[in-house]
Amino acid sequence: MKVKFWGVRGSVPSPIKGNTIRRKIRKILELARPSDLLDETSIETFIDSLPFSLSHTYGGNTTCLEIRTEKNELIIIDAGTGIRELGRFLLKEEYKDGKGECHILFTHTHWDHIQGLPFFEPFYIPGNVFHIHAVSSHIEKRLKYQHNFEHFPIQFENMGSTKYFYQHQEGEIFKIYDLEITTKSMKHPGGSFSYKIKENDKTLIFGSDAEFRLEEIEDLDPYIEYFKNADILIFDTQYTFEEQLTKIDWGHSSAAVATDLALKSNVKNLVLFHHDPAYSDEILDEVYIRAKRYKEMIDFDNKKDLKIHIAYEGLELVIQ
Ligand SMILES: [Zn+2]
Ligand SMILES: [Zn+2]
Repeated sequence: MKVKFWGVRGSVPSPIKGNTIRRKIRKILELARPSDLLDETSIETFIDSLPFSLSHTYGGNTTCLEIRTEKNELIIIDAGTGIRELGRFLLKEEYKDGKGECHILFTHTHWDHIQGLPFFEPFYIPGNVFHIHAVSSHIEKRLKYQHNFEHFPIQFENMGSTKYFYQHQEGEIFKIYDLEITTKSMKHPGGSFSYKIKENDKTLIFGSDAEFRLEEIEDLDPYIEYFKNADILIFDTQYTFEEQLTKIDWGHSSAAVATDLALKSNVKNLVLFHHDPAYSDEILDEVYIRAKRYKEMIDFDNKKDLKIHIAYEGLELVIQ
């Protein structure tokens, strides 16, 4: 199983600004020494030595993930603005000729998880087939609402592909391809649902959007059981620890809570996800460094088995 991240921001898209790029260039130039610029190899080595926030950007698109099975079958999680670019990528495959078929899982229908759908080009091509799954009630009605003439010029029914809807219940286990999918309700205003995707003995869990707090960690047994031994847990870490203290009931967690949960659940790979739109690339570098430092500070026997990642657009993880 493989996962690729096409949108990693929470709440609202946050494109990088021109003056941010100028600031990054200035810092890079200040760091460069003549020996870094001798030839292509030294330039590449120098770029590789820079902090992620200087050599890359985490990206500004909202939630969208591409999951591929061992047979390369496709599952998409959520249709935030990241799905627009995924759609363009899929047009290089059979979706261009109306011969594509895949499943889309919706965690919930807050705007940042559906607003890319009207710009998902494979949806417009007759012949393509999409199986749309959700636990959130009336998923068909909710998605069509976004296409009211008051909001968008093309109605949902006029997007030429074929769509089938599947309304699931919380806790239900269902099959897609050879995968076993389990659902679980997360703590989030209006409701949000996690998906646990199991292929043979490998497990990936998508757990955003979700508000868990350190002081409630003892009440989290059902979740620890649900996350137990996951190969990959992608979790809502929108806020820094300090900011989460000021944003109670906003529906999101911090990397410290996610790390505690991952260690208690014996997760192998934790992915920090759903970054706050106000956080710069530099702040996200700091979030990542602090999460790894927090893991080293706390007392868990299994902490050497946990690897922490931070999501960025283009990140790919493979479970083997
Ligand atoms: Zn969200
Ligand atoms: Zn949400």
